[in-house]
Amino acid sequence: MKSIYDKTFDEMVSYFEENGEKRFKASQVFDWLYSKRVTSFDLMSNIKKEVIELLKKDYIITSLRLDKVERDVEVNKYLFTLSDGNHIESVLMRHDYGTSICISSQVGCNMGCRFCESGRLKKVRNLTAGEMVEQILMVEEDIKMRITHVVIMGIGEPFDNFDNFKRFVQIINYQKGINIGSRHITVSTCGLIPKIEEFTNFPYQVNLAISLHAPNDKIRNELMPISKVYPLKDLMKTLKKYNEKTNRRITFEYILLDGINDSEECANELCALVSGLNCYINLIPYNETDNLGYKRSKKETISKFYDIIKKRKINVTIRREFGSNISAACGQLRSKKEDL
Ligand code: SAH
Repeated sequence: MKSIYDKTFDEMVSYFEENGEKRFKASQVFDWLYSKRVTSFDLMSNIKKEVIELLKKDYIITSLRLDKVERDVEVNKYLFTLSDGNHIESVLMRHDYGTSICISSQVGCNMGCRFCESGRLKKVRNLTAGEMVEQILMVEEDIKMRITHVVIMGIGEPFDNFDNFKRFVQIINYQKGINIGSRHITVSTCGLIPKIEEFTNFPYQVNLAISLHAPNDKIRNELMPISKVYPLKDLMKTLKKYNEKTNRRITFEYILLDGINDSEECANELCALVSGLNCYINLIPYNETDNLGYKRSKKETISKFYDIIKKRKINVTIRREFGSNISAACGQLRSKKEDL
């Protein structure tokens, strides 16, 4: 059965109209769901009995179950069980500018990035938009605070679940709903070119992050098999068009892996690769996991890599670390749970 959190406001209006009810019922239901945050239709006390029964017949209201939380000063990590028994994760991070949540978009992932824990489980299914929305609602319920920023960088490849991703953005951006500004939403992709092209025309100003992780196809093909389908030259062309069309800055994520992609030569090559793009580079100290064999680059290597880029006047930051002592590497909590 459909989750009520899967519905946009306009769809809720049409639903009531089709069922011979007044349009304003949609506003009332949204108010209960997103302002008062009830998790049972029976608590919607200003809605008449027949309508409650109608809603119950057509929708479910909660489908995620909170399984486990690991807490640290700046970060909480959540493990959820879905209604079909699968597991996903979300991460909450506290910043000086607000709180952000990193949400999952799929159960498992088919992209096969060699360094990534999440991809050790192949895609089982896409998450529905409602399941993505519920991650935000349940974490907000836990911290008793509003989340200000959303990144779609958890388990899964959001552009391999593009329709639900778009629906999710529409729902959380809606003013009388969760009301997260589109500029406060970031989607991260490993580089599915046709979807980046579609995203260029998506009418919400969501930020785009690209998991780059290598300055050339040779290294990238080793780390990210998707690179063989969408080589860097084509990816960069697509991103140039994205820049031109949207005027928005692209974030490049670059995990530094010891001895793999962290040489000075790689840093120089990376600068050349992104030259001419409106972008910034986020260098990510690798979160080591027990199963994959990659090592984090040494501190000095990371600094040197950073300096080379900085000198070229390209915007660059080193990602601040969140919770590496609480299984924060994407997918670790789920792997532990399922004994993968
Ligand atoms: N599939 C999407 C979003 C999920 S991955 C994408 O590829 O962008 C989110 C980010 O976490 C990616 O940049 C990914 O490469 C990175 N990542 C995966 N495993 C990591 C690890 N162990 N340490 C640091 N970053 C990791």
